[in-house]
Amino acid sequence: MKKIEHLGIAVKNLNTANVVYEKLLGVKPYKTESVTSESVNTSFFKVADSKIELLEATTPHSAIHKFITKNGEGIHHIAFEVEDILEELSRLKSEGFQLVNESPKKGADNKLVAFVHPKSTHGVLIELCQEIKD
Ligand code: ZN
Repeated sequence: MKKIEHLGIAVKNLNTANVVYEKLLGVKPYKTESVTSESVNTSFFKVADSKIELLEATTPHSAIHKFITKNGEGIHHIAFEVEDILEELSRLKSEGFQLVNESPKKGADNKLVAFVHPKSTHGVLIELCQEIKD
């Protein structure tokens, strides 16, 4: 693991939340993106080295919709940047962590991502992400 890449926050309405976070952080989102595979709309804010991702569900089947129904809005995941996501996934699997994704998929912000189940991390959903280099 290299560093915390971003924090993911589940919100009911991305437009409303963007306005609040713009005021809070003093910057506009540097990108907004729909991730069809995850049924979410996202926006990303950057303050110095720190990034915040806001996530809004686009369908009732979205994991974000389920999360908000169960927990309300709030911190949804912590994302760690990794050098080699395949290597990290196999390391974590061999350490006994429960993986949500056995293999990485294309996520937001030009990253390969995979999630570790909160059951095996004391209640925190962990995202691994690796920059896609082209
Ligand atoms: Zn994320």
